[in-house]
Order: sequence, then C-alpha cells, then structure tokens
Amino acid sequence: MKTIVAKFGGTSLADGSQFKKVKEIIDADPDRRIIVASAPGKRFPEDVKVTDMLINCYEKAKAGENFDKELSDIKSRFRDIIIELNIDFPLSQEFDILREKIISNPNRDYIASRGEYFNSRILAEYLGYTFVDPEWCVCFDENGVPDDAMTKRAMRAALRPLKNAVIAGFYGADGSGRIHTLPRGGSDVTGSLAACAVNADLYENWTDVSGLMAADPRIVDDPRSVEFLSFRELRTLSYMGASVLHTDSVLPAAESGISINIRNTNHPEDKGTTIVKDLPEDGEDYPIIGVAGKKGMSVLQIEKVMVSDGSGFSARIQDILADRNLPFEQCLTGIDVVTLVIATDLLDTCRDELLQEIKEKMTPDFVGVTDNLSMIAIVGERGSHSCDANVRVLQALADNGIEISTMNQGARNLSLLIGIPEEKYEEAIRVIYGMMS
Ligand code: ASP
Repeated sequence: MKTIVAKFGGTSLADGSQFKKVKEIIDADPDRRIIVASAPGKRFPEDVKVTDMLINCYEKAKAGENFDKELSDIKSRFRDIIIELNIDFPLSQEFDILREKIISNPNRDYIASRGEYFNSRILAEYLGYTFVDPEWCVCFDENGVPDDAMTKRAMRAALRPLKNAVIAGFYGADGSGRIHTLPRGGSDVTGSLAACAVNADLYENWTDVSGLMAADPRIVDDPRSVEFLSFRELRTLSYMGASVLHTDSVLPAAESGISINIRNTNHPEDKGTTIVKDLPEDGEDYPIIGVAGKKGMSVLQIEKVMVSDGSGFSARIQDILADRNLPFEQCLTGIDVVTLVIATDLLDTCRDELLQEIKEKMTPDFVGVTDNLSMIAIVGERGSHSCDANVRVLQALADNGIEISTMNQGARNLSLLIGIPEEKYEEAIRVIYGMMS
C-alpha cells in the first residue's frame, strides 16, 4: 500500500460543508492515510481566520481585558462544524479548559495553536482516524526553534504504526511540554515533515486554488496553471512573490525527493501543480514555466577603476551589507563596477550610514542609488530552449518600449532576472506572459 500525506488548509476546513468535501476526497483514495489539518480559515473574503481570533483573544487576556465575547465567537465556529457533521465532541469541556489556561497562564503560542488542535480532533472523529497531537512529535528546543531531525524521528515513531491518522498542523512542543507554533501558514511545514517521516509516496497539499499560476492573476487575465514544476523553479517563483506553499515546507520534501501536489478542495477533479525533483520527460514543453516579480526595489551601484583585479572589492562590499544584516536580491559585477539590488524598505533603514561607510571603506569613484525599480524572474528549467526564450523575452520587452535596468541569467538557465522601472511592471508581466503561452 502506498502512503499519501494529505494536508488540508484553512479554507478547506473552514466549515462543515468544507469538511464534507474533505472526507469525500480522503475516501476516494485509500492511500490518503496521514492527514494534516489547519485551523478553520476564512469562509468568505471578509471572514476572520480562527487563528487570528485566538491571537486576538490572547491579546485581550494579556491586556487584562475581558475576552468572553471573543472566546464565545471561536466556540461558535467549532459548534457550527460539529452540528453540521453530527458528531460527538466535548466542546464545552474543552473550551472551559482553554478559558482556564488563558486566565492562569496566557501563553500566546498555546492559545494560537488551539485552532489546529480542535479542528484536527473534530476531523479525526469525523473520519474515524486516530488523532495525533504534534505536542508529542513535532519537536522544538527550549528557545522555540524547531528541531527537524528530532521531529522526523518522533513523527516516524508516532505515525508509522498507524493505518490512518490526523495530525494537527502548525505547532509542537519543547522537552518540557511547552507549546510552540511554527510561522504563520506553518501547517504546510508540518505536512512536509510528516511526509518525510513516513517516507510518503506523495505529499498532497489541498487548498483553494488549482495549483500555481504561470503569472499573477491580478495582472494577467486567467493565467494557465502549471502542471509540473521543479523544486528550484518553485523556489525562484515563490521568492519573487508567487505563493502557494509556505517556503519552509519545500526543503524537507525536496531533500527527501518527495513530490508535492497542490490541489483544490473545491475542484478535486483538477490535477493541480506537482512539484518534483526531476521534471518528467514527457511533461509540458513550455520553455518558460512562469513569471513572477516584485516592486519596491533599489539599485546600489559602486564604481572604482581597476578593481576587477581579484582584490575582493565585491566581497568586501557584500561584507559591509552582511554586517548590517541587509540582504540583497542580486549582485552583478561588471568591469570595475558592482551593482546590488536591494529591497527599498530595507535599504531605507540605513541608507545614509551605508553610503557613508562604503565611501569611507572603499573610496569608490562613484556610489549611488536608483529607486523605483521592480524585479521580474522569468523561470524555466527546460534547458535547451531557455536561451532562445530569453532572447525572445528581451525582444518582446524592447518592442513594447520597456527599458531594462539590470539583467542576470543564472548559470544553469533556470531563470532570467531583470530589473525594470516600477511603473512598467504590470505591462512587462503581461508582455512576457503573452509570449509564453
Ligand atoms: N492556522 C495557522 C495560520 O493561520 C497555520 C496554518 O494555517 O497553516 O497561520
């Protein structure tokens, strides 16, 4: 028998009718044996996620304010689910315990984690699966830092003997039993760790979109979804702003070579996007698989005659940035010139001091910043076509009068990164998408 780890996100488990869809999906494939659940998410755009409601409750308790109304609204969310599913669940007892804990010891992470805890227990009851509390097997150190290696061992011990299980996402505990949460959206990470622990054949991530779109649907009308994507392509696209999965969830699966299939709970018939280690030979043959980008970038340019002589000029500039914890997106070194692309909001935290330090330590002939830039990544690992595709992208942008400020092509043809003026960003994305499809 195969093992599929299936993680269902907040919108997939937002109310009773969504739970019913989830059960249908799980029942449709007996290999879906390990289920990871999020807290109830938004049922409609203006709705509030249960995790946010819990955090709000914690804030009130911390400030010494009354939180009865907030807690009762959260209880109602779960009561509605239980009633619709017609299952037995000791809701009042559980909420009495929670209330006591909030009063006696308001621990933010414990309170924030209860959305996943209740939802997973309810789902386990509804499916007739064993509930696994990540308190026993998602391990953190005493500073709240996740310990992936220990988690893998503990999860394996907890999950392997079980035929079917529901494990709550998003949290775990340290050696003393104190609850810690992963970053927001962290149930994706729990799913990935669970998939690695049981050496799953596939990690399914069920959400409310049919996979990753080849371009931002807010800019391009009805972009196609990508069927296969390599881990490296996903990394580049998500770094540049295309988001479907929590970034930290990709590495564990990638390292173990477990494919991730992003699926839509509301359209289970769609194949979604499968993220794989090696792209299938017979997969889609688009030279460019996706385009993504972000605005709000600046270019820092430093020039000094005769520095391209192995003196480590560029490395020393990068050290200055590293000492200030200032990350850069791209570093282009030309003859006697170093160009760094940096997020403007981060640069603004130390712009004047940084320029001053560079002037003093590097004595450049010129140092200056250009703002209002956007960066676009054009991604596609289907090597042999990429060069030609890149030329066509540049031509298409030139034909549309879009000027390129910086450009960098990765050594393995994975992506072309270009910087263009911010006001041309949307137009450029549309032009590139237009020539891709
Ligand atoms: N419920 C948590 C959040 O809203 C974690 C998750 O859904 O993955 O961030």
